[in-house]
Amino acid sequence: MNLRPDPEFESLLSDNTSGKTRVESRFEMWKEMLDEVMVGSEQGPRLFPRAVKDQLWSEGHTCAWCQQEIQDFDDAHVDHKVPYSKGGKTEKDNGQLMHRYCNQVKSATEQVASQGLAAAQPADEADLAV
Ligand SMILES: [Zn+2]
Repeated sequence: MNLRPDPEFESLLSDNTSGKTRVESRFEMWKEMLDEVMVGSEQGPRLFPRAVKDQLWSEGHTCAWCQQEIQDFDDAHVDHKVPYSKGGKTEKDNGQLMHRYCNQVKSATEQVASQGLAAAQPADEADLAV
């Protein structure tokens, strides 16, 4: 699966939009949507270049989430310290290594935090009191 944005897609986005900033933000949203879809797939999202991962790995491989050592380079995922959805850049200063699994846990946690727990709570506690 080729996830690289192609010029055709970008031109589609630029139709119907007035400003460059707006196009860029829509493009960021599109990339983020892909990222979410790709979490849990075999290959996983590839937002950070391999070179960044190599650099971070050479500086140490402690998981930023569970603080355990990451044993296998292939099990390491480069996570955004400042979340992508909050404008975090895909560059080394904003990258940290995590286990792939821990990164998925972190993503799920952030989703709950941003969407709230309303759906997980009883609709009306009074109905349960007898
Ligand atoms: Zn971990």
